[in-house]
Amino acid sequence: MGLYVIPLRQHIGAPCVPNVSEGEKVFRGQCIAEPNGLGAKIHASVSGRVVKITEGDIKIEGEFTEDEDYIKIKKCDSIADTAFEAGIVGAGGAGFPTHIKLKSEIPDGFVIANCVECEPILNHNIALIEEDPGLIVRGLQYAMEATKAPTGYIAIKSKNKKAIESLKKEIEDLKNIHIKELGDIYPVGEERAIIHEIFNLWLTPEQLPMEAKSVVMNGETLANLARAVEDRKPVIDKDITVAGKLKSGKDSNIFFQVPIGTSIASLIEQCGGIDGEFGEIVIGGPYTGKAGDIDNAVVTKISGGAIVTIPLPEFGGPLGLLVCACGADENRLKSIAGKMKAEVVATTNCKNLVEIRGANKCLTPGECPGQVQAVMELKRKGAERILIANCSDCTNTVMSCAPDLKIPVYHHTDHIFRTVDHELSRRLSLED
Ligand code: SF4
Repeated sequence: MGLYVIPLRQHIGAPCVPNVSEGEKVFRGQCIAEPNGLGAKIHASVSGRVVKITEGDIKIEGEFTEDEDYIKIKKCDSIADTAFEAGIVGAGGAGFPTHIKLKSEIPDGFVIANCVECEPILNHNIALIEEDPGLIVRGLQYAMEATKAPTGYIAIKSKNKKAIESLKKEIEDLKNIHIKELGDIYPVGEERAIIHEIFNLWLTPEQLPMEAKSVVMNGETLANLARAVEDRKPVIDKDITVAGKLKSGKDSNIFFQVPIGTSIASLIEQCGGIDGEFGEIVIGGPYTGKAGDIDNAVVTKISGGAIVTIPLPEFGGPLGLLVCACGADENRLKSIAGKMKAEVVATTNCKNLVEIRGANKCLTPGECPGQVQAVMELKRKGAERILIANCSDCTNTVMSCAPDLKIPVYHHTDHIFRTVDHELSRRLSLED
């Protein structure tokens, strides 16, 4: 029993349009909202009664929450249509409808499984590979079949040795699927960064992976594709990591297949609850997550995690902000600065940041263009300390000049990493 809040927008594009009414009984797996243009179908994650429909969501009072059964999607002639019926979107955070990617035809191309799980602290993607590598490999094979791509890659950080071993066993008889091991730096999981690592080619920010004859799909998305093809299961459950200042301790808690619409607060309770005073509840990962509202945050098709942090440090003086395209945007940095009670006196962008159709993009994600000018500019404009959102390589560059300029540095992930005793984003060690 309990209330499940199913957002009508869990994807790129306009919100879906409900096809059920208030008071109606619905069943787990039933389609309850249809896409309005670009988008993906939304299904009930629990059986129960629709108690409220608003512009933003459908609220279902669950009646049989332990029920794992579901209404299967209809049989389809193509894998792309199966993905459409199942409402699959990119589970890594972008929420791009998967059926559109699967309509690509790349008879001399590649499907790349993004199993990088780039954000520290989040562990559910790697845990799934360790537990069921076949699910991801079969999902990759279905995506290759749909797009006619003869070759598949699985991109994964080399530090995930157990997961890599599981994958190697799974693909030992498959000559057309290869594993590409990557370093443990941020944002090596960005899709253009992966393409650069595999093909030694930088796509421009306007170019899509298709320019490299590639379709890139998150590992969890591929697992959902395998479930849709084999079990006719729609996307009604989500894997998620819950971590931080919790009574269960500092280790990440992994929840497999949580019904979409489950409140984040209830997952935190399952981890023993919040351990005393806290700062933020970050929804997503340390780099790209945003502060969420404990009373309203719910699991969606694209939720990566929930991290309860220690209180933020206070600095009542003049602060400069350095914005990154792949980490925190200006609004997120301003929000953190506000919680630090700092006075923002200057803001500048990493010079690799370009605006494409209203979104910040990086020219070469993770490859630093030099940060000395940016740090000097913030100092010249009166900043006595700086709050940065940079990638690993650029943070390394900031740290090679800011101490000499006598500018103390905060990274926007500091309070998150300090919570779980994770190494702070600062100078890169030689092994990195
Ligand atoms: S190069 Fe600049 S914009 Fe690109 S990821 Fe690094 S800090 Fe961000």
